[in-house]
Amino acid sequence: MHEVGIMQEAVRMAIETATAQGAGRVHGLRLRVGAMSGVVPEAMQFAFDMVCAGTIAEGAKLEIERVPATCWCGTCQAEFECADFVNECPRCHALSGELRRGRELNLASVEMS
Ligand SMILES: [Zn+2]
Repeated sequence: MHEVGIMQEAVRMAIETATAQGAGRVHGLRLRVGAMSGVVPEAMQFAFDMVCAGTIAEGAKLEIERVPATCWCGTCQAEFECADFVNECPRCHALSGELRRGRELNLASVEMS
């Protein structure tokens, strides 16, 4: 499961951040996940609980902030929300394959004490 590796990395970073700031406990993590990142949020919750067990992040809360996918239309010089990698601009109907947002997968914040 791809999500386990991602959560391992996210939890490792969160623990590192907490330790560096002298905190002894991680209470929550907020992840920014793009619609095109290819991960399943439900699977992430499961992987998260598994990865946190036995660490200072055990029992922490996982929050997932979903980022919608956005494409860029060169003709209109504007962004539009899309559902896939190649999309039709709703204004001029040109096809755009330039994905601007939606591939994000990063740690947005860590709650600790
Ligand atoms: Zn357009």
